[in-house]
Amino acid sequence: MPRRVLSERPALGSARIVWEGSSPRAGRQAMQVIILGSGSPMVAPDRAGPATLVRVGTTDLLFDCGRAVLMRGAAVGMTARDLAALFVTHMHSDHTTDYNDVITTRWITNVAPRPLLAHGPVGFERFTQATLAMLEHDIGYRMAHHADLQHRPQVTVREISEGPVWDADGVRIHAAPTDHSPVHPTIGYRIEAEGKVVAIAGDTVPCEGLTRLCQGADIYVQTVIRRPLVEKVPFQRLRDILDYHSDVVQAAQTARDGGVRTLVLNHMVPAPQPGSEPQWIAEAKAHFDGEVLLAADLLTVEA
Ligand SMILES: [Zn+2]
Ligand SMILES: [Zn+2]
Repeated sequence: MPRRVLSERPALGSARIVWEGSSPRAGRQAMQVIILGSGSPMVAPDRAGPATLVRVGTTDLLFDCGRAVLMRGAAVGMTARDLAALFVTHMHSDHTTDYNDVITTRWITNVAPRPLLAHGPVGFERFTQATLAMLEHDIGYRMAHHADLQHRPQVTVREISEGPVWDADGVRIHAAPTDHSPVHPTIGYRIEAEGKVVAIAGDTVPCEGLTRLCQGADIYVQTVIRRPLVEKVPFQRLRDILDYHSDVVQAAQTARDGGVRTLVLNHMVPAPQPGSEPQWIAEAKAHFDGEVLLAADLLTVEA
């Protein structure tokens, strides 16, 4: 089977980082998954916050909007102005830090009002109103300064929990509840287009909803921790994460049980040390026969 990784930019320290950007899109309908941010709440110089772009032809669908999402998007021609829709898995700050940037940038780069279509779990409407309230000063400044800017930023929120949430431009998306307890609610997404399936799991331990999302997926993107390393960290606040994330072995088992083709390990904790990447992949491959990729920012995989 031909390798379907279109571009792979390894972690800082390996000197092969290339920021030349744009993955091929012209005239193509094949579904691409582009990891815009492979990081976690821990700040890293080479890993933006959680955000994944699913691109089908000219349709850009953004999943989560963590730190620096628009910078990474710029490297592959994704803009807030032209996003078809945003889908949020949950309201942990690392997944939503730059929601305000997406809202503001879409607002000021479109001449006419063009509402941002934003999907998220129950509570996301309130989260959005609070974000807009935070932006109130900026909104006032810009409307007072630009005579042609007579409308406020507009966001159309759809709160969702499970079932079909999108059917347009040849793309269908289903949501299902995931388990990131005590964080409630959380959801993952299953994207279908061109006969292919992509599962964006977000932060979750194995659960029934995740099983449904991953069934027969061509690409499954999963937040992972390396349990043996996290267990050794002499800091309880970090060890706390052990109970609400899949570890690498669990992600591999989920992929195996779901008949997944390509598992993408993402949002790794701890961030892989340069040179340790093969260990992460080997740990997964011990439980899963398919392709295993360790995400770096701008990793691009075709479904
Ligand atoms: Zn989370
Ligand atoms: Zn997270």
